[in-house]
Amino acid sequence: MRQIKIIMLGAPGSGKGTYSSRIAPKIGVPHIVTGDIFRAALKAGNELGKKVEGYMKAGNLVPDDITIEIVNQRLKEADAQQGFVFDGYPRTISQAEALDKMAKIDVVVNLVVPTDIIIARLSSRRTCSKCSTIFNTLFLKPKKEGVCDKCGGPLIVREDEKPDVIKHRLEVYNKQTAPLIDYYRNSGLLVDVECNDLNIPPEVMVDKIMKILQGKFG
Ligand code: ADP
Repeated sequence: MRQIKIIMLGAPGSGKGTYSSRIAPKIGVPHIVTGDIFRAALKAGNELGKKVEGYMKAGNLVPDDITIEIVNQRLKEADAQQGFVFDGYPRTISQAEALDKMAKIDVVVNLVVPTDIIIARLSSRRTCSKCSTIFNTLFLKPKKEGVCDKCGGPLIVREDEKPDVIKHRLEVYNKQTAPLIDYYRNSGLLVDVECNDLNIPPEVMVDKIMKILQGKFG
């Protein structure tokens, strides 16, 4: 399949990180995760990390000017010229408008997932503290408890995945990010992909999304 420019849209816990990390290598494009860029900065304790720490820990969005600048820089890199999968960007209408000026998006995959599934997933999520691979104690278990299959790093519950913060992140999503569904539907780019069963394995969803993309961009 040719390289294309994709946005994965969906609430926290909709599976967008899990699916897009698998889809990007199949298409041969980078998987760009603004959350990972911010987490790396936080870990490094650099200037960006200090700026974003408070917002992230509280489950609030990092201000648009900071986020847009990060993405602008990332899109200048050589590997992002022909295509990418965006995961966690854009998250506001201003970010989407800024992105329209930076790149011509081919498709927006909107993951439609019921709230009860989202909450069950988020509260069972474990993330590798080294390489950020996501596991799940319900259906995407690591081979060895608490250890990353990919790199052997320790698996942790992210600070923003404690129950109160999860609830707040969902509110932030509904208020600030959900309007992007109409924004992209109006521009004709949106494809809805439903997932209403907690037990559907990630690979099945990935196949479903890949078939849709192949049908459009073969
Ligand atoms: P999730 O999709 O599970 O909510 P992410 O890893 O995408 O988590 O993001 C974690 C945090 O990083 C967000 O809660 C927010 O504070 C910050 N962040 C990531 N992407 C953006 C963005 N596009 N705009 C503003 N803040 C962002």
